Amino acid sequence: MGCRQVIPMMLVAVLFLTACSLLSGGSGRPKGEVHIATVNNNVCKRLTERVVIYGVFVDSKVGGVWSTHDIRSTVDSMRLAADWIMQQARKKGVDLDIVVGSHERGGVVPVRSELPRGGLEGLLHGMNPASSLDRWADKACRQVQSAFPRDTARITLTKNTPKDRERLIASLRDRHRTDNVALMLFVNKYYGSETSVAMHTGSTSLIEYATVAFKRPGVIAHEFLHLFGALDLYMTPYDNAKDVSKRKQFAMERFPKDVMAFPFRGLDSLEIGSLTEYLIGWRRELLPEDEALLTGGKVRLAKY
Ligand SMILES: [Zn+2]
Repeated sequence: MGCRQVIPMMLVAVLFLTACSLLSGGSGRPKGEVHIATVNNNVCKRLTERVVIYGVFVDSKVGGVWSTHDIRSTVDSMRLAADWIMQQARKKGVDLDIVVGSHERGGVVPVRSELPRGGLEGLLHGMNPASSLDRWADKACRQVQSAFPRDTARITLTKNTPKDRERLIASLRDRHRTDNVALMLFVNKYYGSETSVAMHTGSTSLIEYATVAFKRPGVIAHEFLHLFGALDLYMTPYDNAKDVSKRKQFAMERFPKDVMAFPFRGLDSLEIGSLTEYLIGWRRELLPEDEALLTGGKVRLAKY
């Protein structure tokens, strides 16, 4: 497992620090002040109150097939991740209740959606990675949704053609009486090198979800926090810009125990640092040193 430590997990939709797509000047804000679209945005809005983390287990030729034991141990890891995040919230006085759910109902019923030959990594390096991965995810979500009892979710009654992920999220929102549903699709890769990725985390129209290839609670917590707006605090091969790499190096030094920097470590040695707290809505204002790290001092960030 040692070499796995260096396998990067990508955050496709978000480019740390220079994330233009995340920044928007809002009306009514002082000039030059921007809002980062990580809080109160999309499905996973703010990591407070009642939140659902929902695991979908996907079989595929390339990605692997799920056994009962594998699903159970992964659900256990989801619980450990959820418990750890709730414990971090309690320490900071944040009211948070995470419910762990999956489509397992007393037995193993993984869904099936084929990945291309190169697996997730191949797909992410291919043409149009977002739409290929979305199609793969939608096919899996459609099967989960079709096994539910009659669908009475508001969106499916009012919208003509809701997409599959949208439909599943709507049902889960109704069922759990919360807006905050973190959708995670798991592929069963123990030994291969696969990537975990959070998609559409800064989008205002496409439903965010994570695809996870590892069962480690730290990785699950890391991807879950991405869905609520946290950004990677370590260098990925996609950080080409020199100043971004430099700031990420500082970030790793400044947050030596942050789960967004070191997801492969054990959770009991990790914490949620001040920058991540701001991005997930646990802190109203960024500390000045974190702001410089995040924006390079080029823009001023709004308070939530
Ligand atoms: Zn990440």
